[in-house]
Amino acid sequence: MNDYLKSTPNKDGFFGDYGGAMLPPPLVPHFKEIVEAYETLSNSPEFIEELRYIRKHFQGRPTPISYLKNLSEKCGGAKIYAKREDLNHTGAHKLNHCMAEGLLAKHMGKTKLIAETGAGQHGVALATAAAYFGMECEIHMGEVDIKKEYPNVVRMKLLGATVIPVSEGAKTLKEAVDSAFGSYIGQADHALFGIGSVVGPHPFPMMVRDFQSIVGIESREQFEEMTGGLPDVVAACVGGGSNAMGLFAGFIDDEDVALYGVEPLGTSSKLGDHAATLTYGQDGDIHGFHTKLLMDENGDPAPVNTLASGLDYPGVGPEHAHLQKIGRVTYTTADDKESLAAFYELSRLEGIIPALESAHAVAFAMREAKNHSGKSILLNLSGRGDKDLDFVVDTYGFGE
Ligand SMILES: *Cc1c(COP(=O)(O)O)cnc(C)c1O
Repeated sequence: MNDYLKSTPNKDGFFGDYGGAMLPPPLVPHFKEIVEAYETLSNSPEFIEELRYIRKHFQGRPTPISYLKNLSEKCGGAKIYAKREDLNHTGAHKLNHCMAEGLLAKHMGKTKLIAETGAGQHGVALATAAAYFGMECEIHMGEVDIKKEYPNVVRMKLLGATVIPVSEGAKTLKEAVDSAFGSYIGQADHALFGIGSVVGPHPFPMMVRDFQSIVGIESREQFEEMTGGLPDVVAACVGGGSNAMGLFAGFIDDEDVALYGVEPLGTSSKLGDHAATLTYGQDGDIHGFHTKLLMDENGDPAPVNTLASGLDYPGVGPEHAHLQKIGRVTYTTADDKESLAAFYELSRLEGIIPALESAHAVAFAMREAKNHSGKSILLNLSGRGDKDLDFVVDTYGFGE
């Protein structure tokens, strides 16, 4: 298919200078097993056919591309299109890699999926996969997040998952990752860690990208069929970076297609006020891989802030750090305010309520449209906004 995707990362999991696998010794043999299983399965017609069946008959793929006519006319300039991952089962792109991780676990003879979750979106997607494959599921979640995102806790429990409250430290995502990894070390013979984005030690950044690449592959075909050509600009929000890598994968060898990753600027560019890792970060290590990081003066991961809890991570997928360095992707930001405005505009003008994460990509397209007169912008609508309604309306009202 694709020259770039075939040659990157290298066999040790490096995307240029970034990536790799820094593992505690007990996990080394287990990650070797995952690397080998993925190498075999990604070339197995049976695995590929099973995944294709699941995507079509369970997830509801392919998801469409919508031309956002009213929004385009209002902004003036480019025609804006959206890849509708909000219409994927469970309402976001995350199920694309969770179902594939479940299938990988099944083929490896594992009976359990373990992960952490922040806002609960990844936990719900992984619990859905576990239910489908008849596996046990253990999700670690900070006590603060459990309170904040209670509807997702209810969903995970209904789906049959065990939710483990984490009471260490700040009781949020970082502590949940540590807790989940600790638990996984003791169960790695029968469990698979289901990482939630293009992050973590090799082979996860590559595997999750490959599993998400269906978004870009479909988009390329659909866009050509719809318009007779390729989009001029392709954009997606970047938290860990999985929905962005999925969409970019379809266009990465097309030099004429400009790729943009949109990071959350939160309330300001001051450290602690945002989660724009590629824009303001430095090289460092987090959770077993080398990437760009937001760090405090001691070199520890800095606190991050954004309206969109799914973008709330002080690191970023190593492949994005690489694509930034080689200049193939441009990384820019959208702040809370313009993303919230985009959330209201898309709802009212197009009848699509976006996730606050996805609203960052919408905000970018709205801002850029006038600079691309007569051109086209394709954005990834990574998820639907149902999960954000209570928060948005309680905090900001109806946006009049
Ligand atoms: C989790 C999430 C994101 C951020 O994750 P990436 O790995 O950066 O894609 C974006 N949008 C939605 C709807 C999410 O749930």
